[in-house]
Amino acid sequence: MQNNYICKWVPWKGEFLKILLELEASPEPRNCTWCGNDRVYRCLDCLHQPLFCIECCQKSHESLPFHRIQQWTGDFYEESALHMTGIQLHLGHGRAPCPHAIAQAQQAAGEPPPMDDQEWEDVEDIEENPKHLCPPVGSRYLTVMDVTGVHFIVVNWCGCETAETRYILLLRAKLFPSTFKKPSTAFTFAILDDFLRDNLECGTSGMNYYSKLLQITSSVFPHLIPDRYHELLWVVQKWQYLKLLKWNGFCGTTRSAEKGRLALFCAACPQPGINVDTNEDLDQ
Ligand SMILES: [Zn+2]
Ligand SMILES: [Zn+2]
Ligand SMILES: [Zn+2]
Repeated sequence: MQNNYICKWVPWKGEFLKILLELEASPEPRNCTWCGNDRVYRCLDCLHQPLFCIECCQKSHESLPFHRIQQWTGDFYEESALHMTGIQLHLGHGRAPCPHAIAQAQQAAGEPPPMDDQEWEDVEDIEENPKHLCPPVGSRYLTVMDVTGVHFIVVNWCGCETAETRYILLLRAKLFPSTFKKPSTAFTFAILDDFLRDNLECGTSGMNYYSKLLQITSSVFPHLIPDRYHELLWVVQKWQYLKLLKWNGFCGTTRSAEKGRLALFCAACPQPGINVDTNEDLDQ
């Protein structure tokens, strides 16, 4: 049955292959999908992989900053990254920039990114790395793990007097910080859910999942990507615990989750005195 299904498809394989190759090529004329200007970037994660000029690439990805893009070199498309187009993440005023952000950014220019003591940064031989795998220079950036790979993004934190702490600003943007005082790494809620599903349904270990993430980011230079494997394990444990607390109604209450209170009740499991005789020896 299965062989029959594949045999029927074989005469069409050439047509399928032709379209796959056409998708690799640069269409002519190269005009921006939005404004008609000469287009340089194409997004692999947007439907129909549209081509954009730099301004439209920024605008169209303000709320999709973790899409993977490529840049036209004149001969071929090479791997690129949205942080290279100048895209920034504004935290504290929805998607709008904080009125204090410009002054804050000027002050931060030239300073190394702030990090908690618990984190470390692999910056060896960074000038030799492919550009899309290098963090933005002279800016405060965040390393973000998403299902689309590992990304760098310049962050404009809210600088208002009433600003919430940074880890809360990140959580409101659906980014889970790996540390709390001066977070420099965050995980999207999507990747945490994806890891838990992979772990449950496919038996994927943390090491294998992180290895997959490196391959998605760069199959050629996975060793150049910052190592956040241990951060993934720490954050996933917190995420799973928080979800169990939420599902079991422990939000907004002072009562603590006693032993067994976060587990699902199974009516079929042995319950002495209810579905099992207390005098019965269960080992026999
Ligand atoms: Zn454009
Ligand atoms: Zn896109
Ligand atoms: Zn602000």
